This record gives sequence, C-alpha cells and structure tokens, in this order.
Amino acid sequence: MIFVTGKLYWPETLPAPSLYPALTEDVKCDVLIIGGGEAGALVSYYLKQHDVDVILVDKRRVSGGSSSANTGLLQICNDKTLTACMHSFGEQKGVRFYELTRQAVDELEKISGQLDRSPDYIRRECLYYASEPADAESLRTEYQLLKKYGFPVMYFERADIEKRFSFSKEGAIYSKGDAEFNPYKFTNGVIAHSVKKGMRVYENTEVVHQKVQDGGLLVYTNSGRTIACRRAVFATGYEAQSMKRNANAVISSSYSIVTNQVEAFTGWPHGCLIWETARPYLYIRTCPEGRVIVGGLDEPLQKQDASSLNKRDQLLAKIQELFPQIPMRAEYYWGATFVGTHDGLPLFGEQEGYPHCLFTLGYGGNGTVYSTIGAQIISDLITKGSHADADLFAFDRRKYASATV
Ligand SMILES: Cc1cc2nc3c(=O)[nH]c(=O)nc-3n(C[C@H](O)[C@H](O)[C@H](O)COP(=O)(O)OP(=O)(O)OC[C@H]3O[C@@H](n4cnc5c(N)ncnc54)[C@H](O)[C@@H]3O)c2cc1C
Repeated sequence: MIFVTGKLYWPETLPAPSLYPALTEDVKCDVLIIGGGEAGALVSYYLKQHDVDVILVDKRRVSGGSSSANTGLLQICNDKTLTACMHSFGEQKGVRFYELTRQAVDELEKISGQLDRSPDYIRRECLYYASEPADAESLRTEYQLLKKYGFPVMYFERADIEKRFSFSKEGAIYSKGDAEFNPYKFTNGVIAHSVKKGMRVYENTEVVHQKVQDGGLLVYTNSGRTIACRRAVFATGYEAQSMKRNANAVISSSYSIVTNQVEAFTGWPHGCLIWETARPYLYIRTCPEGRVIVGGLDEPLQKQDASSLNKRDQLLAKIQELFPQIPMRAEYYWGATFVGTHDGLPLFGEQEGYPHCLFTLGYGGNGTVYSTIGAQIISDLITKGSHADADLFAFDRRKYASATV
C-alpha cells in the first residue's frame, strides 16, 4: 500500500525524538501493541493507567506512519454530519457519537498537558462553510440539530462571514470546542510517557505472524524473535487493510501543504479551523510557528509521488483564493494514503479469525479523535471485559445501521 510521500513538516519540529532498540531476544508481556502511531500510543496511555505490562512494537520508527502526515485538526463535527449519523444509526447512537467526539477533544487536552514536551495543543473555534449556496439549507438543519443537543454552535449568514473573513460564503456553522495540535510531538510524547510508566518499546520490529499458545498468543517478528502475550492490539493504521481487507473501508489518497511563516493572519479571526460542505472537502488551520496548513483534494488511491506537485499547486491556489491578502508559498507538501469507511464511523474491537486480538482502526478525517475513543474502548475491553459504546464501532455493526453516508 502506498503510504506517505513528499516533504513532511512535523518531523522537522522535533529534530531529536527518543529512539528505541529493535527486538533482539524472546520476550513476554501481558498486552502487545502493534503499531506506534497515535492509535497505539493512546492505547498504551490508557493501559498504563491500569498498570498493565505492555510492549509496543513498530516496524518503522514510532510516529513514522500516517501520524506524521496528519494535519492535526481535532474536531467535534466530522466527515459524517450529526444529521447523517442520526439517519444511519438512530437518534440516540448518532448523538452519542458526537458526545464521544466532544469528550475525546477534551481528553486530548488533558493528555497533552501531562507530556514532558508540549504538543502545541491549542483550542480553536471552527468555521464550517457552505461550499455552494445550495448547501446552506442543509447546513442550517445541521446547525439546528447541533444546537438542540447542546453543542456550542452559532449560524453565520453571508453578512456575518463577510464582516469577519476576507471571503464570502452563503452561510456557515461557527462552533467552539475544537482544537489543533502537533500529532508527531503528541505521539512521541505519549509513547515516552508510557515508557516512563514501564512500557517496553521496540522499533524496526515487524510483526509477521501470530499463533494461539497457552491461552494467549505467540507473536513472531521479522527478526525471528518472539513475543508471548495474553492479548495483542493491532494499531497498524491503514496497513491493517493489507492484512485483512474490511468491506467497510474506503482507501484513497489525500494531499497537504504547509506554507511559509506569514506575517499576519489578516481576514482570518482567531486563526480558527476552516472546512467546508463539499466532499472531498478542503480543510485549513494555522500553526504556532505562523504557518498555514491546508489539506484535501482526496481522490481514489494514486501513486502520490506523481500527483503531489500538481496537488501542491492546487491547494496553494485554493488557500490564496480565500486569503489573497496573505502572501503564501508551499514550503512542505505531501501525499498520503487515507482510509475512511462507507458508513462514516471508525472500526474498533475484535475481528473473526483473530483470537486474543483487538483492533483499533481510527479511519476517517477525524482519525485522532476517533483513535482516542478507540483507545478507551480497547483499554476497557482488556481491563474490564466490556465498554458501553463498543457496539457502535464493532466490525459487525451493520446490524445497527440502516443507511450509509
Ligand atoms: C493527509 C492526512 C491528513 C490527516 N489529517 C488529520 C487531521 O487533521 N485530524 C485527524 O484527526 N486525523 C487526520 N488524519 C488521520 C490520522 O492521520 C490517522 O487517523 C491517524 O494518524 C492514524 O493513526 P494510527 O496510529 O492508526 O496509524 P499510523 O500513524 O499509520 O500508525 C500505524 C503504525 O503501525 C505500524 N505497523 C504497521 N504494520 C505493522 C506490523 N506488521 N508490525 C509492526 N508495526 C506495524 C506502522 O509502521 C505505523 O507506524 C489525516 C490523515 C492523512 C493521511
């Protein structure tokens, strides 16, 4: 599977991350986490709250996968509107999903505050605008639903947008409670935090096979060394699709740029997050170093190398259209594999054919927030045997759904 290509920005913000050895001996633990991206890091965080004996392995360096390509927007509202969630899963489960995303954004703030190095978590307001005038009606319906269920939203008419921003749109939802952060610093920081609590980490260590043994698992790595464990958690991100393809997963390519440091964010109040109703959507944020991050232009899976220069120029043109008064050039750009789901929700829990294994696949544009929900569910499944929201994200959840996004 094509993964990440181009010139990444986040690794440059943390020039000396902690390094971990490769596995060179046979070892044992209670829970093995496979994958050192955000999802694996977050599972380790919650398991270490319960003092579980954990080993984490990654076939690359930790945070070397999708978590380094992530643009770091942390949103309550997401790819699947509350309206669509309620259509698909019913009122109670639809609203519950949105409550969970709100809690996860708060949870990420709490975790960020516990790390030795700040991952630049900053609360941001968010503008979700109508890409076309015809989208304003459904946007207003979405606003009314969000307001009804207590989410902190306002509706902006065209005049409200023109008064505040350098561009004009027919309408927009303006919300509070979202955030931004640096996903690379965060993932490295959470893993370092778990290491301080006794977790063992092995980089450049690939899991190639596992078999049931003694009521648990014996896991084989590429070096021939083994890990005996009671449970294994696959936090292998989009690469999980190479191991077992899920019918619900939709694989595509996504593109991002990071601009030069700009002098001022003129016509962009409070450096709020910005996204839109079009699908695929454009999404935009600022970052503490004074740069602008733009992502989008998703398309069916491509050889990203070939198209990322073209996409870089298109993304730059789109941001300049919104903010013509801010001179920008793309200093970093990348293309990355991206996986969403047909029904709009991530996938957490057990899969048939994998005894003693759990999966946390935070698929979707809000992958960090989803991975936070997933980590809490996986940790509870391991330490308590159940979690009240596990059914909503189960791999066989089709029995709960009545429609797709
Ligand atoms: C361009 C782009 C922009 C995005 N922007 C946002 C955003 O703004 N906000 C947001 O919330 N989400 C965003 N996402 C989604 C987000 O990046 C992902 O949901 C999240 O990073 C996934 O984390 P992960 O840990 O599941 O996967 P990864 O970070 O990919 O980690 C998986 C790890 O597993 C390892 N691995 C795989 N197989 C094995 C094996 N067999 N043995 C050992 N190790 C293995 C890999 O090396 C990798 O390090 C974006 C994604 C992309 C592509």
